Amino acid sequence: MGTVRTIALLGGGQLGRMFIENALRYNVSIDVLDPDPHAPCARLADRFVVGDIRDAETVVRFARDADVVGIEIEHVNVEAMVELKRMGKRVVPDPDVLRIIKDKGLQKEFYRLHKIPSAPFALIEDLRGIEQHGDLFPAVLKSRSGGYDGKGVWVLDGNDPRSVNAVNGPYVLEKRVGIAKELAVLVVRSTEGTQVTYDPVEMVFDPRYNLVDHLRAPARITSDLSERAKGLAARVAEAFRAPGVYAVELFLTEEGELLVNETAPRAHNSGHHTIEACSSSQFDQLLRIYMGWPLGDHTLRGPAAMINLVGEGGTGIASLVGLDDILHVSGTFAHWYGKRETRTGRKMGHITVTAQDHHGLDQAIAVTKVHCKVVPEKGPIVNEQ
Ligand code: ADP
Repeated sequence: MGTVRTIALLGGGQLGRMFIENALRYNVSIDVLDPDPHAPCARLADRFVVGDIRDAETVVRFARDADVVGIEIEHVNVEAMVELKRMGKRVVPDPDVLRIIKDKGLQKEFYRLHKIPSAPFALIEDLRGIEQHGDLFPAVLKSRSGGYDGKGVWVLDGNDPRSVNAVNGPYVLEKRVGIAKELAVLVVRSTEGTQVTYDPVEMVFDPRYNLVDHLRAPARITSDLSERAKGLAARVAEAFRAPGVYAVELFLTEEGELLVNETAPRAHNSGHHTIEACSSSQFDQLLRIYMGWPLGDHTLRGPAAMINLVGEGGTGIASLVGLDDILHVSGTFAHWYGKRETRTGRKMGHITVTAQDHHGLDQAIAVTKVHCKVVPEKGPIVNEQ
């Protein structure tokens, strides 16, 4: 492939914005397609096009002059990516990988085929299917497609389908596992097939929104478990056999077993700390893949934590309060995604903190959480509480 001059990115959210922040150091143009004219990338992209990333014609027209096509969200038109690949562009992730990952059912079958441990499951078309799988209870029901950030996931109390307030199927019905820790491992695979694997991070979820509340790196697990988690995540990227950044989410069960929950074929919330805590961040690695450059150094330089700034108190023009109370602490880095409107549960930014040890991280996480909040500037337009 010749010189890469233009990268076409499908989706203009915060992942795209952080990608551009790094890529601006180099002489490459970044075009972005997103339906929202106020998307976080709007002011940073070389060319920002308002349009539907799910519409094949729009996507092909948008990317036809680019050398590379990337995504920052899975909900894009895969057929358009197939067509763009056929036109000779470097398409990352590969459309075949995306097709599997977009469908949680195909993803689970892929793990089974490749003997990658994950929770036992069944694929069902509609809620009546629940009754036939008593062996999977207690269970979790997941929409096969369209879900994100816990939307499209329901914990089932019993196997009576009437107890489920779910949208339409088809679904994955999954055995509920006792989770000791939720881990994530970032694996980067180059076009030549070389791979680097970052240290596992430990994610703590906010039960209100089913979102990551904060994460810490490295995860507080034994070195043996850490190696096993890295090995398992590396196997997932090997099985996909295509270049890209893979964020592999894992459950460490109460029995000490490691299971793959799901994989994102892109930069991910669980890798934001790599911007400040590693020489080469997940966004830098992605750029290297797009450009055909060698992969970067993934070593974690020291303990780090990432705290998501999530909207509270309803909908309105976003205001971030408390930044001045934390920015004087050395090793504190703020990221404010530039979304105009805040909503309860919407990811609006994040804070990364670095420290000498986990005790230092505990303190920094606590201080950040006490002071930093995202609220509607003049009170909520619509009160969602
Ligand atoms: P999403 O794609 O929306 O992130 P996930 O499949 O990751 O959805 O599920 C969201 C959360 O639900 C997980 O982070 C975990 O806390 C919980 N969960 C998912 N699957 C299971 C399971 N089989 N057993 C127990 N908890 C689960």
